[in-house]
Amino acid sequence: ANATRNADGNLYPPSYVPQQANVAKRAKAGFIVLARNRELEDLKGSIRDVEYRFNHKYGYPWIFLNDQPFSKEFKAGVRKLTRSEVRFGQVPHEHWSYPPYVDQVKAAKARKEMGKKGMPYGDSESYRHMCRYQSGFFFRHPLTLDLDYYWRVEPGIKLHCDIDYDPFLFMQLNNKTYGFTIAGREFIDTVPTLWETTRDFITQHPFYIPKSNADHFLFDTEQRIWNTCHFWSNFEIGDLRFWRSQRYLDYFNYLDRAGGFFYERWGDAPVHSIAAALFLEKDQIHHFDDIGYTHHPWTHCPKHQDYHNSGRCDCDTSNTFDRHDFSCLAEWYRGATEKVPTHVVP
Ligand code: GDP
Ligand code: MN
Repeated sequence: ANATRNADGNLYPPSYVPQQANVAKRAKAGFIVLARNRELEDLKGSIRDVEYRFNHKYGYPWIFLNDQPFSKEFKAGVRKLTRSEVRFGQVPHEHWSYPPYVDQVKAAKARKEMGKKGMPYGDSESYRHMCRYQSGFFFRHPLTLDLDYYWRVEPGIKLHCDIDYDPFLFMQLNNKTYGFTIAGREFIDTVPTLWETTRDFITQHPFYIPKSNADHFLFDTEQRIWNTCHFWSNFEIGDLRFWRSQRYLDYFNYLDRAGGFFYERWGDAPVHSIAAALFLEKDQIHHFDDIGYTHHPWTHCPKHQDYHNSGRCDCDTSNTFDRHDFSCLAEWYRGATEKVPTHVVP
């Protein structure tokens, strides 16, 4: 009764050959990492954490993408940290350059202005290409096309808790499309016209908006002005088929036409989040409370004591971002169908 069926449909009793006890079904999934050669050292820690906390027992592939060719050192360096398949890809030039309708002089001016104001990455041109790429293109890279689900990993992140199940299969089995750990507020100066542009898009495409979507997360008042809440996209476990869908591509193209990736500094986090909250049913979005996570400067640490007493986490519950003024986790849970987790670790 406890036999396991492997990918070929063969049946193995778990005790037959020990390794075959873990040949259970996998999702079509992998880790997607956009990175630069010089980030190798910071990336090593991220890969080590993901492998140690989860993937060494599951063997999902790693896909590394870069607007420049990866160096020999980079490739050798990451290969040493995993037994999984590793892919290295370069971003096509058309996905990391100015579309013809963007006025580059106007864009340069905008960067200078935002730089003077001291906004993070305000004067950075490459950061804008990166945000536009993460918003509109990573899910169409040829090396990702065989995948349904992805987990975004960045250099310098930490995972604080053992993950004793397969989050990709969790997504698949529960019809989840977008998963996050940290939700926060955006600097409005980086996205001053993102909401009005979105509103115009909705007006023209009302059929893209399901009734039971998660727009409660985006508004604090009846006026339906975006509160800048967004899911922090440096961690995402998501369904690539959503980003490849017509409704999302139409939205991305509409935003891209408006030029805000360059004239302002629209981030992929607000763009992904607004799309997920508007176009998905709210129960398709999931908060991975059990995934303790740090990306500088914020940490999400599961607060339930059992996670810590069982020895599975190494974070400090008093240091979780969730209770910070800037957190939007309360905005998520006040309207979500999923309940604030009370999960007890066996
Ligand atoms: P932050 O998290 O907003 O501070 O921005 P990061 O510097 O971490 O960039 C976000 C992600 O994009 C990370 O995975 C970076 O490695 C990657 N990234 C940022 N800029 C570039 C770039 O110019 N080229 C490449 N290949 N990756 C980049
Ligand atoms: Mn980062």
